Amino acid sequence: AFTTGFTYDALPMHVRFGPGVIAELGAELGRLGLGRALVLCSPEQEKTGELAAEALRGRAAGVLAQARMHVPIEVAHLARERAAALGADACVAVGGGSAIGLGKAVALEQGLPIVAVPTTYAGSEMTPVWGLTEGGRKRTGRDPRVLPVSVLYDPELTADLPIGMSVTSGLNAVAHAVESLYAPDSSPIVSMMAEEGVRAMTAALPAIVAAGSDRDARARALFGAWLCGACLGATTMSLHHKLCHALGGTLDLPHAPTHTAVLPHALAYNQRATPAAVAALSRALGAGNPARALWDLAGELGAPRSLAELGMAEADIARIAEQVVTSPYANPVPVTRDGVVRLLQAAWAGEPPA
Ligand code: NAD
Repeated sequence: AFTTGFTYDALPMHVRFGPGVIAELGAELGRLGLGRALVLCSPEQEKTGELAAEALRGRAAGVLAQARMHVPIEVAHLARERAAALGADACVAVGGGSAIGLGKAVALEQGLPIVAVPTTYAGSEMTPVWGLTEGGRKRTGRDPRVLPVSVLYDPELTADLPIGMSVTSGLNAVAHAVESLYAPDSSPIVSMMAEEGVRAMTAALPAIVAAGSDRDARARALFGAWLCGACLGATTMSLHHKLCHALGGTLDLPHAPTHTAVLPHALAYNQRATPAAVAALSRALGAGNPARALWDLAGELGAPRSLAELGMAEADIARIAEQVVTSPYANPVPVTRDGVVRLLQAAWAGEPPA
């Protein structure tokens, strides 16, 4: 990249990181000159939503605990109507990619700024990418309006993220970093964030599996998630993300576990053409074959390694491969039908990556 040159857009966000920073939500809105925020969260996290409303002090317009995976259009309409009815001039999205995605749906139409308080490692808070699902089809797009203006990373909110979800969400984050390293629009800045993000996350996950309440490990994982999310926000994703998008969209497989099962295989597919990415990942993982190291790590952490155990039928392999080869996108190694079928067969069966 130093000989050919590169481009990097620094995304305009204010980030605060630290245990207890959620208490500063009200002050943060004041700093931004915002009046009243609608709090968005998933039904399972209504208590965390209430905590955010309390932290907003006089600036809470209400709590809508209806966020769901992949932002169904009906929920987006409801949130937009609620924000307008309550006279909110901002949204506070507390939770994982689903809550932040709902905030993005409101920002996209009404331009309300988002303050994000992430509680998983999915990384949506660092990206200008939105998604909306209508009639069983998910549309996605990029729009600078949906990028949160502020992000408050409070590791204490992740202390109760169940161990299984912590692991798959963490490996979902690692997948962003991996694909950013060989993205067509990568840069030395992104590579630095990716390597450190993978290092921080993969060092933290074993400690979290040993003790979910390990505060130092939780903070390091959330920091890793930030870096990996920033990589996602800065670059174009390749084969791995296309595969997971097709598997999630067509077969309704769970988001983070699907990323976990596919990543070692997608990376193995691309490793031969991406020596700089392999070098960075080898440094971060302390192992010469990053694809194999990630597969081993998933096993040690007790994560699902086969698409079969996530509910995929073997007969669906051909259909997904077809979808993935018919939409053109950047990938360091040419994407062939045979190659993708072989990749999916190994991921389906839970075999080690080739
Ligand atoms: P999620 O937001 O759906 O959360 C999963 C479940 O975990 C929810 O029930 C939630 O309430 C609960 N949860 C979250 N944090 C918790 C915590 N700390 N303690 C206890 N429970 C907690 O899942 P996700 O994996 O974070 O997000 C997935 C969604 O985000 C998908 O729709 C995906 O497409 C989207 N996504 C979008 C982007 C983007 O850039 N636009 C990036 C990553 C993911």
